[in-house]
Amino acid sequence: MKPRQYHERTLIVIKPDGVQRSLVGDIIHRFERIGLKMVASKMLVATPAHIEKHYTLDPEWLMKTGTKAIKGYTDKGLKPPSTDPMKVVALVLKNLIKYMSSGPVIAMVWEGAHAVEIVRKLVGSTEPLTSDTGTIRGDYMLDSYRLSDHNERAIYNLVHASGSLKEANEEIKFWFKDSEVIDYDLILEKVIYGMTGGK
Ligand code: GDP
Ligand code: MG
Repeated sequence: MKPRQYHERTLIVIKPDGVQRSLVGDIIHRFERIGLKMVASKMLVATPAHIEKHYTLDPEWLMKTGTKAIKGYTDKGLKPPSTDPMKVVALVLKNLIKYMSSGPVIAMVWEGAHAVEIVRKLVGSTEPLTSDTGTIRGDYMLDSYRLSDHNERAIYNLVHASGSLKEANEEIKFWFKDSEVIDYDLILEKVIYGMTGGK
């Protein structure tokens, strides 16, 4: 077999609402059935400091997320809480820390060809109301920017998934020690990546 040129690893965290709604099995099944391989997992209650660090590993996340949130409002003809992305994101981050540290989460590393992009496709876009049917966020949750704002909390959307390969590499290092990520082969990888001629 040729070297696994397109293989990547990505971080997935089943958020507290995913655990509380007993969706762990369904969520994991989505990643298994597409052919990705779990190479690390653990359950933990994250501290507020851990969550803050996780979301600010990329210094650009604050600006990007603030801008995205403002666009989310204006696209729907709504008035954002502020026109300053840094002010909007400060509120998002505060609520996010509260949400993500409110109970057990399951952190996992998944591996496979195009893992980062494939996982984002399966997870769907940030707001469950507008994420596509067929995605995890689109199928299992109904939250919206409006509803979460009304309830003064982060959007409940069941899972975190790394947004880029760079983000994935940083996040995996932040959540797992090297020794907790396991290198092994799955029989199904021969079928997905290496089988020729039906043998
Ligand atoms: P993701 O990569 O799709 O998870 O989205 P981001 O990295 O932009 O944001 C991280 C998390 O913050 C999201 O999954 C939501 O839980 C929450 N969040 C992001 N933007 C907003 C927002 O505008 N309003 C609220 N209430 N929550 C948000
Ligand atoms: Mg993100």
